[in-house]
Amino acid sequence: MYPANFEYVVPSSLHEALTVLSESENAKVLSGGMSLIPLMKMRLVRPTTVVDISRLPGLDTITDEGDHIAIGALVKHAETGSNALIREYATALAQAAGVTADIQVRNQGTTCGSIAHADLAADQPAAVLALGAVMVADSVRGQRQIPAADFFVDTLTSALADDEILVGIDIPKGGRSAYAKLGRRGGDSDYPIAGAAVWIQGTDGSVADARIAVTGVSSKPYLASAAAEAVIGGNGSSDAIATAASHATDDVVVLEDLYGSVEYREHLAGVYVKRALEDVLA
Ligand SMILES: Cc1cc2nc3c(=O)[nH]c(=O)nc-3n(C[C@H](O)[C@H](O)[C@H](O)COP(=O)(O)OP(=O)(O)OC[C@H]3O[C@@H](n4cnc5c(N)ncnc54)[C@H](O)[C@@H]3O)c2cc1C
Repeated sequence: MYPANFEYVVPSSLHEALTVLSESENAKVLSGGMSLIPLMKMRLVRPTTVVDISRLPGLDTITDEGDHIAIGALVKHAETGSNALIREYATALAQAAGVTADIQVRNQGTTCGSIAHADLAADQPAAVLALGAVMVADSVRGQRQIPAADFFVDTLTSALADDEILVGIDIPKGGRSAYAKLGRRGGDSDYPIAGAAVWIQGTDGSVADARIAVTGVSSKPYLASAAAEAVIGGNGSSDAIATAASHATDDVVVLEDLYGSVEYREHLAGVYVKRALEDVLA
């Protein structure tokens, strides 16, 4: 299928991109195009203007900012998955990016595009939730920071306004993290039927603080607070891990679709919370 007609704009600066967005009624940002183009071809979205930011300079870097790692808007999944800073300070995100789709998509799609897209079954949103990341949104009205916990509103709906570009993601340093999932075709490199990211802080096996995020299971990736509470203050015992896993879907409506029933997804959510916890505590 072909997309409906649209105006294609290639801005030469971020300011120009933001100005076009602010002046357009129904514009969409194009980064890697891995989700936007299929949606346009299926005519599930019909933007009148597409603002292609993929060649804007200076947005494709990962930098050490002292207390946090800054990921630019145009950093691709492949770079997020292999970058030494991300692997060291945001292991869950490196692992999630490394099992996002196939190599062609990883070489074209961007981490910020995946986050902005806010697919309920995407990998990297779970990682940024668990890592306590901060989204940096820019518009002609100025820049603002959105905590990951407030960013994912509903299926394909984020806290970004129509005229905002997600220009970067800041990930605080500290703690250890891991991501684990079951992909739709049984392996890793496909959308998760269920996946979990875990972040913990503590020394000598103790868990002083923790965040656990689950994806693929409900209408948006979410923080499983009761699961995290089950391990906070403990020493990462198998009992605590089992209790955390049993709380993986507390307070959410679990989805049912052709990939799995409610019961299957509830089960998988627990399994992947357990695996990610075991990985990070190992
Ligand atoms: C075959 C295939 C398999 C896939 N498998 C997986 C998988 O296993 N796991 C997974 O998580 N994902 C998967 N994906 C999705 C993939 O990760 C996409 O790359 C990602 O969702 C979107 O990134 P993008 O840069 O391509 O964004 P685009 O497609 O360009 O944009 C996606 C959406 O986000 C908006 N957007 C993009 N960038 C920004 C920005 N900087 N600021 C504001 N809005 C922005 C766009 O307007 C659009 O609405 C798959 C995709 C394909 C085609």
